[in-house]
Amino acid sequence: MFSVLNRKEEIQKLKNTPLDLIIIGGGITGAGIALDAASRGMKVALLEKNDFASGTSGKSTKLIHGGLRYLKQLEFGLVKEVGLERAIVHKNAKHLVIAEQMMLPIIKNGSLNKFFTNIALMVYDFLAGVAKSETRRMLTKPETIKEEPLLHARGKNLIAGALYYEYRTDDARLTIEIIKKAQQFGAMCFNYAEVESFIYENEKVKGVKVKDNIIDSSFEINASTIVNATGPWTDVLRNADKSLEGKRLLLTKGVHIVFDNNKFPIKHSIYFDMPDKRMIFAISRNNKTYVGTTDTVYNKEISNPQVNLEDVEYLLNGVNKMFPSIKLNKKHIESSWAGLRPLIYEDGKAASEVSRKDEIFISPSNLISIAGGKLTGYRKMAEKTVDLVRLKLKEENKIFSECKTENIKIAGADFNNNEEITDLIIQLTGEAKQVNIGLENIKEWVYRYGTNAKILLEIAYNNFRYVEKDVEKLIILTELIYVIENESVATIADFYIRRTSKLYFDRKNIEKHLDFICLELSARLKLNKEKTENQKETFLAYYNESLNFIN
Ligand SMILES: Cc1cc2nc3c(=O)[nH]c(=O)nc-3n(C[C@H](O)[C@H](O)[C@H](O)COP(=O)(O)OP(=O)(O)OC[C@H]3O[C@@H](n4cnc5c(N)ncnc54)[C@H](O)[C@@H]3O)c2cc1C
Repeated sequence: MFSVLNRKEEIQKLKNTPLDLIIIGGGITGAGIALDAASRGMKVALLEKNDFASGTSGKSTKLIHGGLRYLKQLEFGLVKEVGLERAIVHKNAKHLVIAEQMMLPIIKNGSLNKFFTNIALMVYDFLAGVAKSETRRMLTKPETIKEEPLLHARGKNLIAGALYYEYRTDDARLTIEIIKKAQQFGAMCFNYAEVESFIYENEKVKGVKVKDNIIDSSFEINASTIVNATGPWTDVLRNADKSLEGKRLLLTKGVHIVFDNNKFPIKHSIYFDMPDKRMIFAISRNNKTYVGTTDTVYNKEISNPQVNLEDVEYLLNGVNKMFPSIKLNKKHIESSWAGLRPLIYEDGKAASEVSRKDEIFISPSNLISIAGGKLTGYRKMAEKTVDLVRLKLKEENKIFSECKTENIKIAGADFNNNEEITDLIIQLTGEAKQVNIGLENIKEWVYRYGTNAKILLEIAYNNFRYVEKDVEKLIILTELIYVIENESVATIADFYIRRTSKLYFDRKNIEKHLDFICLELSARLKLNKEKTENQKETFLAYYNESLNFIN
């Protein structure tokens, strides 16, 4: 079990274990480091103050990039590195990192032209080692319209198009599955465990004071090394360590808005020009289309960045300019999210020009901080960080191996190829007939939970009678039970936002079953009435916020 139901015993175990490494932050960066370190045999604790992936790692564009944008800056080495890395991330998470054909419309006076786009994509295919089946395709104007009929409305301004591939993921699920794998290697990972302060000995950091926000108590733990992987909060912790010197973070906000596919019926995901020559994505995901992102300097409260009216108007204006026939307005928006990029500040550069490179800072007290980077590069960032940790541990005569994660499949990802995913869907659909669950739901489970969909089906068998054969209730209850027992879900928001993304892509389901889910969650986690009400209220605030755009 990886569950808050075991919390007391697990915290006790944590306090009794001599640790090699404490990681602060349960986003993709901390998750990757936990997996890398634990798989090398280190004794690891990961502490996340809120829920896993509740920071930036649940609020990205949800793409594993191939590095096309780096071609513009002529960073050929980086394109190659990112392309190879994408292939590894895909290999180790086949059901969660999925090839997505992307359209690049070429428009009169736009930032792309036909000749250079062709050359750039050709160089990209070569450098990034793009698979033959996924190499670029240049399109004539009629072909572009055939592939993407919405572009017909651009009339004379449409010149041509190109198709290439990006990989789509679910950022929060990628994070949790990496954490689950790290757990399997012995890492002790806790959400709702906030690092309040550092403990020092001879001016070197040797431990942390932790507030357990579930049990409502505090405790101290020590370790040979401590890594600060807190994304946008990196400088807050560096400041607590009194080592906020030299380089600092620059936070920029990125917003996405979601539409029903009926309102924005793209056939492909599209990467297109805004009037200010920035480029944004419209990404198709099941029966929804999400659009983003903005990139504006952010200086406000870190914990809950809001979507402003200005962000929404900027995105709507761009979409309506590119696709004049759809005439989207605010009322068509079904959901939204805003995330903060933890970038390394560069003097005199505008938000969208600042490099997305990662950087490691080691403070005089030996606190190791890692920030910047991308979801896509999480494994390499982890390797670099843990290599440093390994060197520090060597000084204590603790010897660990080199990085192994290139060949470690994340939790639920025991697939060697796409056919195995299809086979599992067919097999489970056959078995699920007993409880009246159909193909579409099984597909959703397999792409969300991978091979663990088998465990979900077992749970469904066991609860078929409990829900009086109500299949909709059975499906949502099954997911709830699975994530409480296996993914450390502690709140309604964890369930609806990070584990299932229903806040963004399936709000109707929430409207239908919220009361039932609140009852079930509180019974299973043994929450009292007041805690349940508080949780519901907190979740409803997020629910309303995602459609309430402030000035
Ligand atoms: C709008 C947007 C779109 C993006 N799109 C993409 C994309 O498509 N592809 C891509 O590759 N990258 C993308 N990125 C970049 C990528 O999302 C980030 O680089 C990455 O998620 C950062 O992860 P992180 O773990 O460093 O930070 P976070 O995910 O923010 O994790 C840090 C964690 O630390 C925790 N924490 C903070 N303080 C404490 C404390 N005191 N104690 C315990 N825990 C603490 C926080 O609660 C948080 O969960 C995007 C970023 C944004 C903003």
